[in-house]
Amino acid sequence: MASSLLGLACAACLVPTALGQIFVRDEPDAAVATSVTVDSLDFSDAADTLNTTFQGIKFGCKCYPGDPCWPSPAKWNALNATVDGQLLVNIPPGAPCHNNFTGPLGTINTYDAAKCAEVTQNFTSESWTVSQPAAELWTYATNETCRPTQNPADSCTLGYYGVYVIMATKPQHVKAGIDFARRNNVRLIVRNTGHDFLGRSTGYGALIINTHSFQQVTWIDSYSGPGSYKGSAVTLGAGVEGRPILTAGHARNPPVVVVTGECPTVGIAGGFIQGGGHGPWTTLKGFSADNVLAFEAITASGHYVTANEAQNPDLFWALKGGGPASFAVILSVTMKTFPDVRSAGATLYINSTLTTDPDVWWNGTAIFHKWSNHFVDNGLYVYWELSPMTFRARPFVGIGKTSAELRRVMQPFLDELAAKGVPFEFAIKDFPTFYDLYIDLFEDEAAGGSALTGGWMFNHEDVATNNDGIVDAFKTVLSPRADLFGFMIGHLFNPGYGAPRGSSATHPAWRNATDFVIASISVPTNATRAQKADLQSVMTNTMESALRKASTSGCTYVNEADPYQRDWQSHFWGEQYPALRALRRKWDPLGVFYATSTPGTEEWEVIEDGTRLCRKLHASSSRADGWVSWLWPSALALKVHVEKRILFAGFLITLSFSFTQVPIFYAFHLMECDIFYSNHPPYDGPGDRCSRNEIAAGTATQYAILGMTTTFCGTINLFVAGWMAKKIGPRAALMVQTFVPAIRVATQILGVMAGGQAGIVIFQYTQLITVIGGPVGYILVANIIAGEAVEPLRRTAVFGMLQGCIMLGQGIGYLSGGMIGDTWGIRRPFEVAFCSFLIATLYVRIAMPYIAAESLSRGSKPNSKGLAEFFAPLRILAPQKVLLASGAVRNHYGVLFLCAGVFLGVLATGYAPLLIQMYATAVFEFRQGDNGWLMSEFAFMRAAFLIFLFPRIISRGRKWHMARSTEQRAPEAEPRRSSRLATNPEELEAPMGSLAEEEPVESAEVKEDEGTAFDLRFLMLSLAVDGALTMCAAFATKGWHIYVGNCLFLALRVGFSASSQRRHDRDVLKLEKGRRAERPDACRKHSEACNPGLVWFCVLRARRDWQATPYLLC
Ligand SMILES: Cc1cc2nc3c(=O)[nH]c(=O)nc-3n(C[C@H](O)[C@H](O)[C@H](O)COP(=O)(O)OP(=O)(O)OC[C@H]3O[C@@H](n4cnc5c(N)ncnc54)[C@H](O)[C@@H]3O)c2cc1C
Repeated sequence: MASSLLGLACAACLVPTALGQIFVRDEPDAAVATSVTVDSLDFSDAADTLNTTFQGIKFGCKCYPGDPCWPSPAKWNALNATVDGQLLVNIPPGAPCHNNFTGPLGTINTYDAAKCAEVTQNFTSESWTVSQPAAELWTYATNETCRPTQNPADSCTLGYYGVYVIMATKPQHVKAGIDFARRNNVRLIVRNTGHDFLGRSTGYGALIINTHSFQQVTWIDSYSGPGSYKGSAVTLGAGVEGRPILTAGHARNPPVVVVTGECPTVGIAGGFIQGGGHGPWTTLKGFSADNVLAFEAITASGHYVTANEAQNPDLFWALKGGGPASFAVILSVTMKTFPDVRSAGATLYINSTLTTDPDVWWNGTAIFHKWSNHFVDNGLYVYWELSPMTFRARPFVGIGKTSAELRRVMQPFLDELAAKGVPFEFAIKDFPTFYDLYIDLFEDEAAGGSALTGGWMFNHEDVATNNDGIVDAFKTVLSPRADLFGFMIGHLFNPGYGAPRGSSATHPAWRNATDFVIASISVPTNATRAQKADLQSVMTNTMESALRKASTSGCTYVNEADPYQRDWQSHFWGEQYPALRALRRKWDPLGVFYATSTPGTEEWEVIEDGTRLCRKLHASSSRADGWVSWLWPSALALKVHVEKRILFAGFLITLSFSFTQVPIFYAFHLMECDIFYSNHPPYDGPGDRCSRNEIAAGTATQYAILGMTTTFCGTINLFVAGWMAKKIGPRAALMVQTFVPAIRVATQILGVMAGGQAGIVIFQYTQLITVIGGPVGYILVANIIAGEAVEPLRRTAVFGMLQGCIMLGQGIGYLSGGMIGDTWGIRRPFEVAFCSFLIATLYVRIAMPYIAAESLSRGSKPNSKGLAEFFAPLRILAPQKVLLASGAVRNHYGVLFLCAGVFLGVLATGYAPLLIQMYATAVFEFRQGDNGWLMSEFAFMRAAFLIFLFPRIISRGRKWHMARSTEQRAPEAEPRRSSRLATNPEELEAPMGSLAEEEPVESAEVKEDEGTAFDLRFLMLSLAVDGALTMCAAFATKGWHIYVGNCLFLALRVGFSASSQRRHDRDVLKLEKGRRAERPDACRKHSEACNPGLVWFCVLRARRDWQATPYLLC
């Protein structure tokens, strides 16, 4: 009974839970669409990533031109038709200045003198750049392979641009792009204005969705959506830029404003708002994101959603500052508007025309910065720039102030400059509205530059206590090395002034901000890879590092900072990060979207010189380091397949546990004997002095107590082990599960040495240690590692083999433990076990693959904490709501029924091995030795079956099943495609470019669950045979019958174990593909099912449920 509870509890530990209701609809227009609520999104149509090994590490990559899985021209043509001909083959903007453009799809002639002149003239214009399909304002991230040139013979290649662009004009186009990328495993980039400093709106080989055409603006006098806000608002299409919306607001009567950036062309509803978005109104009204009332968006699964306080509130929160291109593609945003008011602006310059003395100049900069707290505490915003000998503060913005009021705020600063002899140029002006100030004092910005970006926020304490240190850091930024110089842009604002508590996902530390500075360093457009690496290192380790060291804020801006800094997660989001990461797993578990250093992208890497976007496969991500690499060189790690390493771990740890199993019994026996003779006269008769009924009874009692505590502590240990795996990662959890028992054995050695009553007390109390690390937790964690590290099609076999290795460890441990005890005394098996545990711990550290803890908590409810989090996995037993391909929603009970089946199975026969021993002892007079051999045989037979036969049965069975189901499906198979695919540009209805000369090959789609239905059949067969054989045991009339029955009975029964685990695993996998962390193995463990009636019912019911949910199977 206890073990069945253990099984269920364990299963629950491992299964992801539903994450709250999601509101989705089938149409973009909320008014006419059918809305449904579901527990999880359906990603079952997502294509698998492509396995690649790079520098010894295994990756699952997106598909790129030339890969077999790259979509065929026919598919691209179909996409083009779906998006109403809005699909372009992407040509870099500089191509008209080059004779040829050679892209992944072929080479075309691109030279056009007139167009080249236009490109050359506009390459530094931000408005022109924004209007291009896929151009970037800051070109560094494009790899600079096709800039405008005077020499048409210069080469022009695609660099890190996307291959195709959808110039989306309708939500349906965006959806088509997302669906296409997901179904074909193509990298997806969302591009709005191309402003991203960090290159997040470009990416090698990607399909780009350009949202810049979404320019609709709808003014709302009185907002009536959810939430307490009832004032004026505006709904903006994703592509609307800052200055146009301020201009449109100014034309309203009375004029209104929204919180935009200072930059005229940055988009509002794209990366800007998803980073938070700061601008001249931020001191008074908070971040742009703080002022959002609702989003319309499309999810990675292709569903239209509204995100506001009532619908999808978690997505609503995450889109407000949680990171660009991470949770959904925004179609529009509804934001608060505010009455525009009179304003005052000022400018102040200190430059080489005023002084050539660097000390004076730096003194002026330091004085300005010293007053920055004072400025923001009086509601000002200041935009300022610093480059060698040039300080420009343009403008100081006093919204709602007159110039006299602004001057009053600034006067102490101006006085100090004058007093310290710092020459400056100053102007101050009144404006009827902020908009007038904005047009007059804010300047356009340049495009086309190649530079690296960093940035840091200084808070009030930093300025108050370390202004000199901050200015020293500025000096480092401007002159990071003798041969280099950098430049800076500063923004004085404090969102906490007007919005003390943000309603967004932005870093809470912003509410005490004073100055956010961007640090930048130019990169030559022809820089070599080594030069780029050098400059990046200067940015990260010198410039940004200096800023960080001068500050206590721990905070920077996700859109304007070095994405390669350590701890970007906490620097961008602070304590909000874990919730954001969990939400990423909910809304985009498979990584349909990607933007550098955004929530949940830790496992992703752009490999092969910044080209392929790939996810690290856990199995091979264990790069040994330090002493570990000395003990276990990575070459060796790669040579020994991860499966074998996991299997050996299972064997070694079990062996360590098993050495003491038989000796513990004798230890109790001896200790009871000590106790008996401590209050009885010494024995002086013949034979063993301890062979007395009283001693045997005492021993049995102690053993029973030990068994009971082991069971209870083991149950808790299952939860603890599962929880640990999620918190510290499976490898570290396995180390704990292996090292803690070493401590237990060490205390047991003390118990053996103490003997008598003290020894018994020590033995019994040491069982409590099992809660933290024990004989069930390690099996759970080993299974988690196997589930994560082993490729899907091999999992059932490996689960079975792992079970086999555990049995083998038990068999050898039982036998050798007893023999060691007999030969060297009762203490020695405990000592051997202690050493064995230490060796096993070391082995786990060096040979087990590293799997990030975060990747396992997929599925845990973001806001569940403490006990709720601990027991949250039990929620899986509740019926799951799934969205079928037809759009219908239905309840799914598969997991519940499978667990019920296992529970009943264990209930029926969990004690079968013990009963067989008792039966053999009673009827055939088996002694300890006989029973020892019986149990070893038990273990060895299971081991042999699981290691050698079971994988073959599963593999062959699946093939058979697949062949059978293919035959059955044959009449419904898709009509054969035309054997000839389009291979030239004319055949593709996209405006430019050509397709690869080599015809792309359709990818051979390997469905990871194909054939696994066989596992369920095998499970049912095992149950039937198992029941029959168990019954046969009753007919045993001779001792050897028991041995023979034992072999057959146990061997066949174990099939249940592994196949039920895989089946359960697969169900969960399909319910929420990508959340693979939590492998159910308890429904499998202790699964000696022999009650065919009830168990069959449950398994059949579970099977029916799976079959009735077609998408889960196909
Ligand atoms: C010259 C210049 C001035 C700037 N000024 C300011 C400023 O005043 N204040 C400020 O806060 N920031 C400013 N920034 C930084 C700016 O906020 C970021 O670069 C921001 O990412 C730009 O967003 P975008 O959508 O306009 O640009 P893009 O480069 O097109 O997109 C940026 C990111 O957002 C994603 N994205 C774009 N559209 C969508 C969408 N519809 N749905 C989902 N994801 C999308 C992209 O995939 C990409 O990851 C400035 C940047 C530059 C280059």
